[in-house]
Amino acid sequence: MSPIDPLPPLRTVLFEYGLEPRRSLGQNFLLDLNLTARIARQAQPLEDATIVEIGPGPGGLTRALLAEGAGRVIAIEKDSRCLPALHAIAAHYPGRLEIIEADALKLDIASIAHEGPLKVVANLPYNVGTQLLLNWIATPTWPPSWESLTLMFQREVAERIVAAPGSDHYGRLGVLAGWRTVSRIAFDVSREAFTPPPKVTSSVVRIVPRPEPEPVALAALETVTAAAFGQRRKMLRQSLKALGGEALLGRAGIDPQRRAETLSVAEFVSIARLLG
Ligand code: SAM
Repeated sequence: MSPIDPLPPLRTVLFEYGLEPRRSLGQNFLLDLNLTARIARQAQPLEDATIVEIGPGPGGLTRALLAEGAGRVIAIEKDSRCLPALHAIAAHYPGRLEIIEADALKLDIASIAHEGPLKVVANLPYNVGTQLLLNWIATPTWPPSWESLTLMFQREVAERIVAAPGSDHYGRLGVLAGWRTVSRIAFDVSREAFTPPPKVTSSVVRIVPRPEPEPVALAALETVTAAAFGQRRKMLRQSLKALGGEALLGRAGIDPQRRAETLSVAEFVSIARLLG
């Protein structure tokens, strides 16, 4: 297949800039530009959007986003070693790539000035991926500043995000994600696609905001789900005892003998609203 741009192959980039992957930064790089293009296409249309890419690393996904026509990419990278390689990409796409050296955990993406819809696209560092997602979902105001999230996670985390009631993967993350967003796994990516290969398979997840999630205080929803799934094998009358147990469940119209994993997101919301 022909290359997507005339820039050097990513293996050469790693070598030239001395980008030895670091486990402490969750660095598992994608060097196949056809694969990164497939991820980028999940976020289409790209032309009129501002794309925020977290952790561009040597720039495989960044290059794919630009080659696929992204109007503007803002790339946020913590590892200063990657910046020269990213600046070489910026020079090839004048005015379309902005590079910010920052810790994405400390950056509020709502503060990013942008034209057109804001879309987040990232092959996330596995050690902070879940926390970043929670930061983007648990914002004080809704709808959020972003229009979609296209994110690579470890398969097990992806399954927890998209999990429905009754599934073994259903838990706090699934309730929170299901309350405010609609999510699906787009496709899996095998370990061998990464340098170095991680321990497990990864998945690309597509997440879009629900326009009008049921109103409920986020803190109350978190309290209920933490208590319920903290003892997921127990009946709710036991696991929610400290919050009101049977009386609380009675007011919500929920059988106290049920277990956390059987409750729909709407049922968790109805309990949390009684705590508000
Ligand atoms: N996007 C590249 C790719 O697909 O090959 C690299 C993905 S690698 C899984 C994760 C990237 O996130 C690394 O470049 C790492 O340095 C960066 N990173 C790790 N923690 C970060 C943080 N807190 N804020 C911003 N970037 C971070």
